[in-house]
Amino acid sequence: MLESLKKMQTEPVHQAEKHQPQTVSVHNLVEFVLQAGDLTVGGFQMRDRAQAGTQGHKQVQRSRPEGYQPEVEIACWVEDADPPLEVRGRIDGLYASEDPVIIEEIKTTTLSLDLVNEDHNQLHWAQAQCYAYMYAQQNNLSGIRIHLTYYHLDSKKEKTFERHYSLAELEVFFHDLTTAYLDWFGKISALQARRNQSIQQLEFPYDEYRPGQRDMAVAVYKAIRDNGRLYVQSPTGVGKTIAALFPAVKALGQGLAAKIFYLTAKTPGRLVAEKALDDMRRSSLDLRSVTLTAKEKICFCPPVNCDPEVCVFARGYFDKAKIALTEIDQHQAFTRPVIEEISRKYEVCPFEFSLDLALWVDCIICDYNYVFDPRVYLHRFFDFSKEPYIFLVDEAHNLPDRARAMYSAELDKGTVLDLQRTLKPHLPGLAKKLNGINKIMLEIRKACEADDKRCACGIRAS
Ligand code: SF4
Repeated sequence: MLESLKKMQTEPVHQAEKHQPQTVSVHNLVEFVLQAGDLTVGGFQMRDRAQAGTQGHKQVQRSRPEGYQPEVEIACWVEDADPPLEVRGRIDGLYASEDPVIIEEIKTTTLSLDLVNEDHNQLHWAQAQCYAYMYAQQNNLSGIRIHLTYYHLDSKKEKTFERHYSLAELEVFFHDLTTAYLDWFGKISALQARRNQSIQQLEFPYDEYRPGQRDMAVAVYKAIRDNGRLYVQSPTGVGKTIAALFPAVKALGQGLAAKIFYLTAKTPGRLVAEKALDDMRRSSLDLRSVTLTAKEKICFCPPVNCDPEVCVFARGYFDKAKIALTEIDQHQAFTRPVIEEISRKYEVCPFEFSLDLALWVDCIICDYNYVFDPRVYLHRFFDFSKEPYIFLVDEAHNLPDRARAMYSAELDKGTVLDLQRTLKPHLPGLAKKLNGINKIMLEIRKACEADDKRCACGIRAS
């Protein structure tokens, strides 16, 4: 074990000496280069509707005729880039036997379809054009058709627009898009090369290991290297945070992972992780981290209303955020105060800006929610990316309770009753249904009381 740690500290890290190949999803590529305007266009709204959107996608795909292929994985390399860039994604639907071949891009919406025209959102076409280019190029097609389908989540109706592109047109489009991305990406690659160099020099930041600390660090490193899971139980005061972060940083420098997620249940845990990284920075580490703070806490315009008509930090967000992001090489620790300072300077939403920064930094310190909660997890990392991540879960004994809360729904009997009374004069039919729900809840409450047990179904009796 001790040998492994020594190796980890002193062996030359060959992968770190050159720029490592990188991957970007079609979604992120298009969003990064072309997204402009206010925050609400595809910002918070998209994340909130993601689950309903997935269902809508499936409904459309199921309705298609035989021979239609849903969710087709596709990837290509931009070879002349240094480092090489892999672009990957999933085609929503493919009619491979049609002549010309048809690529379908599906978008769900709650906007009336009467208001959706062909130019509703250029990003949607851009995404489809990327898939069309990749497919046409790999299959030697001279041209290809795109169907852009909008599916209305409430009415379940759809509207499809069609365009035809030649391979030459798509090639120019894809080249321009990736060239714009590579400008930014070159800067990030340089930062990563600097980071990897610094990790090679990095030594454990304290004079000596505390008892048990070195064994833990070795075990963490091995778990990362072997793609495994490790549960650590040790007394308070051993210094678990640095014993987890130090080997994770080493593994990052060796190309064993693309990012570290340090997940905590509470703010103090986040501060300890920030300090551990700072201690390593004092001992030569050059690594960028961001700390995510809940939207409600960091919002500059409470109560949260992200309507760009109301909040100046949402207005023109995407244009301003691109400029704000250029500060990425001015700091290493994007803590809450740093994020607030930059966000005020460029008048951008601090919450959304911290999420955008997270895409480009090496370590993300955040609440469990951002990884495990199906409503708020970071789609930008977990829906499209195939990159290997390290997850360090602080105080993991809190996870079962938090997971129960994340995956449980709660129905309040008092709210149901209030609603039933309010609606009775206006919508008697609906009020009758609510009355039925109220009666069922009453029966459950009685059954719970009779059993003298805590109700296990998540219904709070009031
Ligand atoms: S500052 Fe607050 S209200 Fe404005 S966009 Fe951000 S979270 Fe929404």
